[in-house]
Amino acid sequence: MGRTRNDIIKLPLWDIEEPNARIHLERNENPFDLPPGLKKELFSELAQIPLNRYPPTFPLEVEAKVAETLGLSSENVLLANGSDELIGLILKLFEGDRVVISSPTFGMYSFFAAVEGLKVENVPLGENFELGNIEAHAENARAVFICSPNNPTGNVQPRKRIIEVLETGAPVVLDEAYAEFSRESSVGLVKDYDNLIVLRTFSKAFGLAGARLGYAVASEETMGQLRKLRPPFSVNSLSLAAAGFMLNHLDYVRKIVRYIVSERERLYRALKPYAYPSEANFLMIAIDAHDFLLEHGIAVKKLSGRLEGYVRATVGRREENDVLLDALREFLEVVL
Ligand code: PMP
Repeated sequence: MGRTRNDIIKLPLWDIEEPNARIHLERNENPFDLPPGLKKELFSELAQIPLNRYPPTFPLEVEAKVAETLGLSSENVLLANGSDELIGLILKLFEGDRVVISSPTFGMYSFFAAVEGLKVENVPLGENFELGNIEAHAENARAVFICSPNNPTGNVQPRKRIIEVLETGAPVVLDEAYAEFSRESSVGLVKDYDNLIVLRTFSKAFGLAGARLGYAVASEETMGQLRKLRPPFSVNSLSLAAAGFMLNHLDYVRKIVRYIVSERERLYRALKPYAYPSEANFLMIAIDAHDFLLEHGIAVKKLSGRLEGYVRATVGRREENDVLLDALREFLEVVL
């Protein structure tokens, strides 16, 4: 097995930006940049950073701060250049010839599997997007990916199911990129399961998508190994300082999360029965309005395959959400 040059030629190039839109609800970003006062404060901290020097090889201070928010220690946390980088690293850590995913889900698991030349085994999510019998496929898997809340469906997988998969002993990657917007997280399970790696990010709730920072959480032993695979300077000094800054402003982060959750619920109520319940910062909507919305300057993500005819809309600012709602109402009047 292994990947060939031909496999690389077959990989698609990324094309996920909608440059012509006025309202961007296609990439699950945080709709708020830092308010000017906080941004100024952060930038004056950044001004002190010597750019001729490499960042710390082990950004222990920020990792310790992250760990504190989770009730864990810095040995359990590894920062990297976005959680995307961590997906690639995790696939180098374990053995086994297959990656198990449950579609519809985040595309990067299959992307990195392809980069590694690994087979992808898909155990589709059920009717209500619950996990299928992935335990039956766990043996010899290099990693079993569980995305919760799942992108793009928005639902959380119950802890009980996650434990059942962990009990197989296979390496389980639990992607909690949207956990801050949901009611429950299973990150605490790393205390009991050595085969669990949880992925989190600063790109969503923390609003730092442009700084590229994600982190993995795992047992001390598993993390000790993963730490060795991360290139020494993949987290740059500026991003590191931005993460430290946000961790010193958790009240602000929590306020933004509350706003997004309340806007999500408002959108959900307004779009019932077309919207699916979500515990993330986006909604999956069963309205085939991608092109219509784009003509009205609003970018959302067009879904495909089993979700053909659906869109995924990121929760934006109140006024952006109002524009989205008006446009969707207009669309429904035209098509119904
Ligand atoms: N996991 C999921 C489920 C995501 O939706 C995303 C971003 N779209 C990521 C991971 C990537 O996060 P990061 O920006 O930290 O690479």
